Amino acid sequence: IYNMVINFAAGPAKLPEEVLKEVQTNLLNCNGSGISVMEMSHRSGNYAKIHDTAIADLRELLNVPSNYKVLLMQGGGTGQFAAVALNLIGCTGTADYVITGSWSAKAAKEAAQYGKVNAVLPKLPKYTDVPRQSSWKLDANASYVYYCDNETVEGVEFDFVPQVDAKVPLVCDMSSNFLSRPIDISKFGVIFAGAQKNIGPAGVTVIIVREDLIGKHLKITPSILNFEQMDKNNSLLNTPPTFGIYVMGLVFKWIKRSGGVAGMCERAKAKSQLIYEIIDQSKGFFYCPVQKQVRSHMNVPFRIGSASGDEKLEKEFLAQAEAEGMIQLKGHRSVGGIRASLYNAITLAETQQLAKLMLAFYENNK
Ligand code: PMP
Repeated sequence: IYNMVINFAAGPAKLPEEVLKEVQTNLLNCNGSGISVMEMSHRSGNYAKIHDTAIADLRELLNVPSNYKVLLMQGGGTGQFAAVALNLIGCTGTADYVITGSWSAKAAKEAAQYGKVNAVLPKLPKYTDVPRQSSWKLDANASYVYYCDNETVEGVEFDFVPQVDAKVPLVCDMSSNFLSRPIDISKFGVIFAGAQKNIGPAGVTVIIVREDLIGKHLKITPSILNFEQMDKNNSLLNTPPTFGIYVMGLVFKWIKRSGGVAGMCERAKAKSQLIYEIIDQSKGFFYCPVQKQVRSHMNVPFRIGSASGDEKLEKEFLAQAEAEGMIQLKGHRSVGGIRASLYNAITLAETQQLAKLMLAFYENNK
């Protein structure tokens, strides 16, 4: 039974129960067509409505200005690590990367295949902070400045939007906090997000790109990663991930009727605060290495027993959580410990269950 577990996975992650039920109800007969959305031609009128409505709803949710295009692509966040460089780095041949965690580091490595990558920060000994912008070494000649708004592995989330020279577009990976807080799109050149955390199933990636940045791609850019070709074809250059786009569209409707992005933001703050407060009041029993100012509202990483983690206690905690139906709480293999991902679909009540377990575990083991 669905409600027997609470899924704290980092992604693919929990989807709103309402949406899953809607998918189930309409699985064999989508919008009266008599067939499943998975069996529908991507050139049909029925599918066109699903596709265009999803894009229109996203534009509405984020107030996307008219000089920005919304593209739906495949290849995930990793595909965009390449796509961003292929589409933009040719402007000057170099780009600035702000490396604050595992995902921005991977993006920089991918981009280095297509141009010169300038690391804006000295290599950080650990990814637990976002150095203030006064310490960054930006290159005035960069094709763009790249950063990752929420580092999913380390739980580090920017608490500011970088200020860059008006001539240099800002590119942002929002894969793991997309639609969790309001953003001013006009400050960005490109925003991208893989769907499988906050907005849908794996397989679809959303790109919001300022019009004037389209058409600057390197000659070698594959068509399916080419912003210009995708834009010209309304993201129907080839067969799109139709099922994923359908589900994502339902998630957008769910966000719209659940208080919009501002509502998601309020919930995210309340949920994450609940867990961080328990961590901070545990006198070091629970330990989150991330600087308070940049602690993620989406992914809460912590160790148990000490700053480096007591593996025996952590194992016990995970086992106890699982016995109570709370699953996928294990930290990323590169950092260990525990990670609670509190994406949009996780309710406050579910977060309270986790909080209750943490408090009981503390009392029994402190
Ligand atoms: N960026 C971020 C912030 C992520 O969390 C992830 C996936 N966990 C990626 C990029 C890579 O996404 P994908 O697996 O879809 O390529």
